[in-house]
Amino acid sequence: MNQHTLKRSYTYKGNGLHTGQPVEMTLLPAPENNGIVFQRIDLNGDSFVEAKVENVSHTSRSTVLAKNGVEVGATEHLLSALYGMGVDNALVQLNASELPILDGSAKPYADDITEDGLQDQRVERKYFTVTKPFSYKDEKSGAEIVVTPSDRLEIEVEVDYNSKVLGVQYADYHDGMDYAKEIAPNRTFCFFHELEPLLSHNLIKGGDLDNAIVIVEHPVPQETLDKMRLLFNAGDLKVTQGYLSNVQLHFSNECARHKLLDIIGDFALLGLPLRGKIVAKKSGHSINTKAVQALIYQLK
Ligand SMILES: [Zn+2]
Repeated sequence: MNQHTLKRSYTYKGNGLHTGQPVEMTLLPAPENNGIVFQRIDLNGDSFVEAKVENVSHTSRSTVLAKNGVEVGATEHLLSALYGMGVDNALVQLNASELPILDGSAKPYADDITEDGLQDQRVERKYFTVTKPFSYKDEKSGAEIVVTPSDRLEIEVEVDYNSKVLGVQYADYHDGMDYAKEIAPNRTFCFFHELEPLLSHNLIKGGDLDNAIVIVEHPVPQETLDKMRLLFNAGDLKVTQGYLSNVQLHFSNECARHKLLDIIGDFALLGLPLRGKIVAKKSGHSINTKAVQALIYQLK
């Protein structure tokens, strides 16, 4: 199969979830073998950052890339969409340090690409082929990623937060499934008890309650809900079966499906489409990117 790029350019406006900064971002077609490259057009000089694992700078709440002091944050949902939709080459221009959160999923990107299709290119696609089993484990958190040989991409995810609401959730995906329908729409999530400290540390400035699923593990007094409603400028809030009523779930296992979306975005940092089977438990951006790094190192 040949490489593909976008048929046209797409512009998105929004706010960064963590910085709260307004940002305008444009995806543009790019030539063969370009890969996915970010460009900060608000900075002077060489402001390009390749979507490669060697440029990962930190992973505390999203996957942040940086090169020569040029930072691009919250890359994972866009990279997931480009990978899932089969885009090998694209230039991503933005005028702030963090991508827009949009609705918390990869759906806006996937829908646009679905509508136009892709531009076929003249050079054959290369793959990152897993040739022997590989595993990466974080003893402290119990997070684990195992990658084994397969002639296509396959992913299995297990999510376990010791949560009464979520229980243990599973999601799976493989090449040939409809990424735009099955994976892209799944939104990011957080726990209610995480929100208040984040708010007081100014870490969720851009979030208006439309872009995250909020899981409510413990009973919440009405006055706390009222306070949240004011902070987020939201309508009436209640708790239904452990979820805050700000959004309706797209899938009963939406949280596991979102973790899978994130894994695709982080594994896109391999720089080539993966042929291998990923089995992930308690995954997150930190272990995802460390596993990608170790996988490249091991196969060298
Ligand atoms: Zn995510």
